[in-house]
Amino acid sequence: MSRTDVTGRAAAAAVPAQRSAVTAEAWLQIPSAAPGVCRLRPLTGEAIASYAQRLAMTYQLALPQLLDGVGIALHGHGTLPAAELHLNHNAARRLAALARVPLPDLLCALPRPALNDTAPSAEAAARWKRLEAAQQPFRACTLCTRHRSHGATDTAWVHPPPHRLVCPRHHQAAPDPRLTSPIHTWAVPQLAAAYHAHRRLLRHPGAATAWTAARAITTRWYDHQQHLTHRWYTRLTRLCAANPHLATTGSASPALLARGLVIYPETVALARALATLPNRPHRTTNDALSLIAHRLNLAHLTPSASDPLRIFLTHTPLTSQTML
Ligand SMILES: [Zn+2]
Repeated sequence: MSRTDVTGRAAAAAVPAQRSAVTAEAWLQIPSAAPGVCRLRPLTGEAIASYAQRLAMTYQLALPQLLDGVGIALHGHGTLPAAELHLNHNAARRLAALARVPLPDLLCALPRPALNDTAPSAEAAARWKRLEAAQQPFRACTLCTRHRSHGATDTAWVHPPPHRLVCPRHHQAAPDPRLTSPIHTWAVPQLAAAYHAHRRLLRHPGAATAWTAARAITTRWYDHQQHLTHRWYTRLTRLCAANPHLATTGSASPALLARGLVIYPETVALARALATLPNRPHRTTNDALSLIAHRLNLAHLTPSASDPLRIFLTHTPLTSQTML
């Protein structure tokens, strides 16, 4: 444990369970070196509601109590991950002061849309807003979160970039916002290997384009049970055995909840292959298919005319300047 962690626990333990709002406000006046006040940094890409919630838990307060205590007016109702807390500038400034984090650092770490209400206003205000399913954050690794929360909580919600799907240190991943707990990935060592392969892919200038294409292709293969069905089914079965909560989440089938994780190793392998394919006309579709089959560890790959990979190879020249 780091010294920060220990200090944080001591500080958290020193906070009475029902500290009043007035006292929380008074903490803003306490010099930064005073004991009993924790510095809490946001996780990268953390939903602002998640960050505010963790801050509240650090002080053993409910979120509305914390906001009230630092003079932020809270409007509306919501819960993570279906809603996000939007702050205006004054509210962000007050949260940063309470958390002992420089405001620019806070603005840099939190997702941009959370702070789009920057109109000058005397009132420090926070407002819950519902999120579409595609905009909702994902559960962060519980162990990383606990470490970064001085032990106060293991719950955080983040908008991770694709290459941060898996926590390589703690072997956890949350590939769907509907998962209220992350999936433990020890049972599938290919996932940690894919994490490192994905990091290598990022060095390639065409990484983003290749990733988007590969992800669309493998998702379609998975949904239509093509090419890699047996391998993916085996992997899904292992993940389900190690994660009973996958079957009881209720809102969707385990096959759907774990999809992004099950297809992850092949998505990375396909993206790496697509990123390094020679441009047409210096390659044929069949050459490309045999290279991709090799990368996917398949004996052969003979997609139909309507297969998204064949369509991609036939109609997408891969000649953007960034690919050269
Ligand atoms: Zn972790």
